[in-house]
Amino acid sequence: MRRSRAFIPTTKEAPNDATLPSHIFLARAGFISQVSSGLYNYMPLAKRVIKKIENIINEEMSKVGAQEVELSFVTPADLWAESGRIEKFGKELLRFRDRKENLFVLGPTHEEMMVDLVRNRVTSYKNLPLNLYQIKTKFRDEARPRFGLMRGREFIMKDGYSFHATTEDLDREFDAMEAAYKKILTRLGLDFRVVEADSGAIGGSGSKELMVIADSGEDTIAICSKCEYGANIEAASRSGRGAIPEAPEAEFNKFLTPDTSSIDDLAEFFKIDPYYTVKCVAKKVIYEDEIEVVLFFMRGCDNLQEVKAINATDALDIEDVSEEELRELGLTPGFIGPLDQDKAKHVIDTDLKNAQNMICGANEQDYHFVGVDLSVISEVAYFAEIAEVNEGDTCPHCDGELSFRKGIEVGHIFKLGTTYSEALKAEFLDENGKAQPFIMGTYGMGVSRLVAAIIEQHHDESGCIWTKQSAPYMVNVMVSNIKDEEQLKVGEDLYERLQNAGVEVMLDDRKDRFGFKMKDAELIGFPYTVVVGKELVNGSVQIFDRATKEKTTVAIDEVFDKLMELIK
Ligand code: ATP
Ligand code: MG
Repeated sequence: MRRSRAFIPTTKEAPNDATLPSHIFLARAGFISQVSSGLYNYMPLAKRVIKKIENIINEEMSKVGAQEVELSFVTPADLWAESGRIEKFGKELLRFRDRKENLFVLGPTHEEMMVDLVRNRVTSYKNLPLNLYQIKTKFRDEARPRFGLMRGREFIMKDGYSFHATTEDLDREFDAMEAAYKKILTRLGLDFRVVEADSGAIGGSGSKELMVIADSGEDTIAICSKCEYGANIEAASRSGRGAIPEAPEAEFNKFLTPDTSSIDDLAEFFKIDPYYTVKCVAKKVIYEDEIEVVLFFMRGCDNLQEVKAINATDALDIEDVSEEELRELGLTPGFIGPLDQDKAKHVIDTDLKNAQNMICGANEQDYHFVGVDLSVISEVAYFAEIAEVNEGDTCPHCDGELSFRKGIEVGHIFKLGTTYSEALKAEFLDENGKAQPFIMGTYGMGVSRLVAAIIEQHHDESGCIWTKQSAPYMVNVMVSNIKDEEQLKVGEDLYERLQNAGVEVMLDDRKDRFGFKMKDAELIGFPYTVVVGKELVNGSVQIFDRATKEKTTVAIDEVFDKLMELIK
């Protein structure tokens, strides 16, 4: 492609709302343009990157025997009612009616559609397993679309669905998909981790996320210092903690403790470690048809993990509750404890089961109990894992230590089981001629999010640094001064030779100054730029390596071979 003919509207201006490097650079370098909140146009450079990613996905999917399909983007609302997800998905589903008043939904994911495609078409165990996928636009009316391609409302997803006769076969496929997803990300040149994930509202027996490691990631992952264990903080667990502080021993007693409504004040008052205090986090728990205040109790040194809290209460969501609302229920904010607690439903963190030497609120203004032995409620209270792990906690699988990293979720693979096939009555006949619901897996990968994730992990202050497998063009041949006939000729020749060799190459044949073109090349992020400039009088050109910013002088008759070697 000749740069003089290319549609690459680069600009100095970053979008007003852009905070992430990927958002800023993809917009400035002319890859994407915003249409409306969470909606983007892909310009030629972005389209090329997307195709690269799609090709790698297609290659790896065909190696594991998955078949590509393409389902309608507009999906009948009836299907969503059948699965029961029309409520669960809530406002993220964009609904509309056609001229005949039929209700439709723009597909945010395609479990229902895929089950509908397969039901009554695959009817025997003999035709299983089956893995179908598509790479397709999705629409989710996200509450807070942000960060450019990272969280759009319209975005591209690779979504795959597998159908099995046995759970063993699903397990096998799940492992094969995990391996294929790892290959895709490795081929794209990304540093990533596969982590255990929350299975959330969809249910199912196992799920893993593929996280691209980047400081700007929205997800926190806990990783072990010794073994392979990694988990999204929403799902991470621990087998213990580093050092347990010395216990404050005391007889059970009620104590006047003025001005101690926070854990810090309470720990300071008794000169004890917050480990021995009981923290209460009250929340409004949202169900389909009711809202209820629930008290979550955990050690004072821990924090509530909201996703675990949602799972523990089977809720759709949880929200904050005001002190007034708590008082209306007869609760005493700052002094709420789990003993004799009958004002609201409560959940106690498993780590408090049978905890000794505790200090907790006495459900009375300015009073706490000391010397509390929580085994007195171990039979009656509801315990669940609701606390977030902390850095330094012990790995659940070995004696390593957990530490946190930030990640971008680019993929999510899921053992669904029979949730959808049962709801949608999608069955096959097993070896004994008995009807069984399909056992399913689902495998998502964020294609457009990957474009942003690559740049989050690979950029510098000057712009994008594409990895070799993702670059829109591998080589940029820059003619420093196009009025110099010799320079132009050498540039054109090299451009043609590279093109004939199948290299994706851009020829910067614009009239602009060298400095301007160089800045532009750095912003766009071609892996290699060949500068055909002043050194030509000595028979050489320069190869600029975008990732290292190194410039190497190469003789003209060696530059082609040198480039071919570099891009291998
Ligand atoms: P998130 O937790 O980031 O909202 P999700 O759990 O809702 O994502 P899935 O339903 O698992 O996402 O979708 C599969 C993949 O699609 C995700 O791993 C992610 O890479 C991508 N994805 C999901 N939502 C968006 C979005 N709004 N914009 C871009 N990509 C997205
Ligand atoms: Mg997910």
